Parts: sequence; C-alpha cells; structure tokens
Amino acid sequence: LLGPDGSLGVTIFEEITTLANHHQAINLGQGFPDEDGPAELSKLAQEAIATGNNQYAPGKGILDLRRAVAEHQDRFYGISLDPEHEVIITTGATEAIAAAVLALTGPGDEVLTFEPFYDSYGAMIGLSGATHTTAALLAPDFMPDLATLENSFSPRTKLVILNNPHNPTGAMFPVEVLAEVVRLAIKYDAVILTDEVYEHLTFGTRHIPVATLPGAAARTLTISSAGKTFSFTGWKIGWLSGPAELVAAARTVKQFLSYSSGTPFQGAIAAGLRMEDTFFTDAAATLARKRDILAEGLRAAGLDVYLPQGTYFINADTQKLGITDATALARRLPKLIGVAAIPVPVFCHPEGAHRTRSLLRFAFCKQEPLLEQAAERLATLK
Ligand code: PMP
Ligand code: GLN
Repeated sequence: LLGPDGSLGVTIFEEITTLANHHQAINLGQGFPDEDGPAELSKLAQEAIATGNNQYAPGKGILDLRRAVAEHQDRFYGISLDPEHEVIITTGATEAIAAAVLALTGPGDEVLTFEPFYDSYGAMIGLSGATHTTAALLAPDFMPDLATLENSFSPRTKLVILNNPHNPTGAMFPVEVLAEVVRLAIKYDAVILTDEVYEHLTFGTRHIPVATLPGAAARTLTISSAGKTFSFTGWKIGWLSGPAELVAAARTVKQFLSYSSGTPFQGAIAAGLRMEDTFFTDAAATLARKRDILAEGLRAAGLDVYLPQGTYFINADTQKLGITDATALARRLPKLIGVAAIPVPVFCHPEGAHRTRSLLRFAFCKQEPLLEQAAERLATLK
C-alpha cells in the first residue's frame, strides 16, 4: 500500500534514512532541516509545557492558532476565513491529507493527482478504496500538458489533489495551470485538495494559492504545515482550511485519527504565523543560497540539475553517469559515497515511472558546509 508499486513495507523516507544512519551518510534524502526554527517559538512551546498546557487541545485546535491561520491567509493572499468553522488544526499536513481523502472519497470514486506525487496521497487514496488516476508532469519544467489534462478527468473524479509548490519536482504552478485545474474541477464537480506546505519556501516565483482563483474557493480545501515554514517538522502541527462543510467532513474523520493535536506547540505556531514579513523572506533567501550551493555541486559531479522554483528539493538526472535505475542507485549511494538521496520513480505508478527513472531528489535544507561536503563526495561518482 505504501509504495506506488505495492512492494514497500516502509516509506521510502524511512528506508533511506535508516540506510543513511547505518552508513553514517550525509542524509539529503528525507526532507527535514538540520537546524531548528526560531528560538522564540521554541521558548514559547517550552513555557507552555512548563505552565501546564499539556492536556488535550480542542479537537479542531486552539482558537488562537485557528485565528492565526485565518490572519495569515488574509495577510498573504487576501483569503478570508472564519476561524470557527473554516479552519482546523491537524497533526501535520499528513493528517490533514488523510482526513480529507478519507472524508471525501471511497470505492467507486476517482482521485486525480499529478505524477510524480507525494507518497501519502497514493497511500491514503488506497486506504479510502478510491481509484488513483494521474496526469504526468513533464520535464524539464514539470508542468502538465494542458491540452490533454481533461483526459484525466471523468464523471467519477471526486477529488483533485494539487501540490504547489510541488514535492518532489520543485515546480510551482502558474496561474494558467491552476485556472485549467479549476475549470475542470468545476466542469466535473470535483473538490480540489491543495497541499501548499512549501508556500513560503520559494525562490523568486510568487506562490499563488489555488483558492484565490475565481470559482475555486467554494470547492477547495487548503493544507499547510508548521514543519516546513518554521522548521519544526517534529512538532507535527498542520492545518486545513476551506468551506465549512468540507472542513467539517475532514474534522469528523480527524476525531478518529488523532482526536486532537499537540497542545503545547499550538500557541507557539500561532506566534510564528504572526511574525514579520522579514522572517518569511529571510528564510527563503537563506534557502536559495543553499539551493545554489547544492546545484553547483551536483553539476560539478556531472549530473543534470532541474533548478526548483520552490520547496527544499533539487531533482538531478543521473543519466550522464550511465545510470538508468535511480531507485537501485539510491539504495547503494549511502554505502558507495556516504550520501543519501530519494529516487523520484517511487513517487510514480509503475506505468509512469519511466519518465523519472534516472532522477534523484536531494534535500538542501542543510547547513552549507554539509552541502559542500556532500558535493565533494558526489564528485567521486564520475
Ligand atoms: N505534503 C508534502 C508535499 C510534504 O512534502 C510533506 C512533508 N515533507 C507533507 C505533506 C507532510 O507534512 P507534515 O510533516 O506536516 O505532516
Ligand atoms: N515530506 C518529507 C519529504 O518529502 C518527508 C516526510 C516523511 O518522512 N514522511 O522528504
């Protein structure tokens, strides 16, 4: 269920991180930063623990954080939300994805994702019993073919899952692509579930939430996460927002997934969402430098690089090194050169995997000397 080819008992992230640890490799596989987020947020969470904020939070999340999410959506995108009925706090974006997919789809329905797709979409669609259909993102810019996108829709399409900025490719969808998705969602009466966890990790391209497009808000659920924006992946605080009836459906499922989410972290993340603009722009600028360091290292190692517009991942093509099976290479890489990366074909169904068969995904949310050291090791591959 977890692997798109049905063969994996553990996620690719678990598999590669275990290998990286075993070989003490530099782990550019699983996407997590090697530095904590803002110290003032950490302090707020510690104070919350010290002062007894340690019992269940309300199921839909503390009001202050729901308000902060609504304020954030208004401040950055002009999206207006009622924190009482249109926002819930979840245990990471992962739970928001699970709750929405399980609430809205079941056997007989189709759920459309772009391919490659983040692994939990495939797993949750599988658990819901719906059929997973895909539309390919095509190199070099990893955009869908708008002329044929409608072929991926049918009267059974219940949900379209968008991920923007996109993991694993780093693509950001321009307004023309989003508008076509919205047009088709309306035509086929599908709900749009948009995973925007990398909304602030962008490098010069403006993030456009699909919910801001005409006609979209009434059928769109938007997901984000504190893990990415504030570099606290272990806190597992995410959120889901959109029309009250869709949010209520996801909340019904959330009650039985986790009931509620980490109490002492919620106030701290509310403060994070209210930080000044410079926090968000500085974090993206720091990440852009890291992206450039790793891109240069990968190029020097003889790989073709697809420079991402957003996220903290770079896709690199290993074909020039004579590699045709990135998955086999990724499993050998930690032992071979002491660097770990994620093979992109695992984010594809077997029928679509040929498009990405020589691609590796490298995470660059790491300190600069470590990225330079990884580049040196990669250079030995030539
Ligand atoms: N969606 C995407 C596209 C992701 O990359 C990730 C994690 N990296 C998640 C969801 C999960 O987020 P969380 O850790 O908040 O559950
Ligand atoms: N989302 C992170 C990534 O893409 C990993 C999260 C996980 O381990 N499930 O690397």
